[in-house]
Amino acid sequence: MSDDYAFAPGGPRPAIRVGIGYDSHRFAPPGPLILGGVPIPSDVHLEGHSDGDAVAHAITDAILGAAGAGDIGELFSDRDPANAGKDSIEMLRTAVGRIARDGWRVHQVDVTIVAERPRVASHRELMRERLAPALGVQPEAVSVKGKTNAGLGWVGRGEGIACVAVATIVAMQS
Ligand SMILES: [Zn+2]
Repeated sequence: MSDDYAFAPGGPRPAIRVGIGYDSHRFAPPGPLILGGVPIPSDVHLEGHSDGDAVAHAITDAILGAAGAGDIGELFSDRDPANAGKDSIEMLRTAVGRIARDGWRVHQVDVTIVAERPRVASHRELMRERLAPALGVQPEAVSVKGKTNAGLGWVGRGEGIACVAVATIVAMQS
């Protein structure tokens, strides 16, 4: 390891960092389903203390992870009644504000939704438009992809949704 390694004590701060986030929620009646901030007509919703938006939650964890700022469970306790039914887009905004305190802003995010239903493609553009302002980026900087689990396991049985997100954050100009 060279002396100018960015994380060395007293070394220069890195200009870019990467974080990963994962989330899953179980389906339960009734609908609608909220995913990426978009209400999707459905006979089920995602069970959870908040609105269950697994896309927003995975991105939130990716952003916090990139900044080394803990995780969504620390920022929003599921024991706090104030977080019941909470709009997860607002949680995302709060996480963006949290990393801004440390001098970071979101550069880009990439999300994969793993579910047998709904089909993501027809909702992708709306999700990008809804997520982008909360992240402080243009919709082009938000990628949302969907895939099935090929019928395997709990996702394959249609019991719920899994979501993986990667975020890059960059140092704000000081
Ligand atoms: Zn969640």
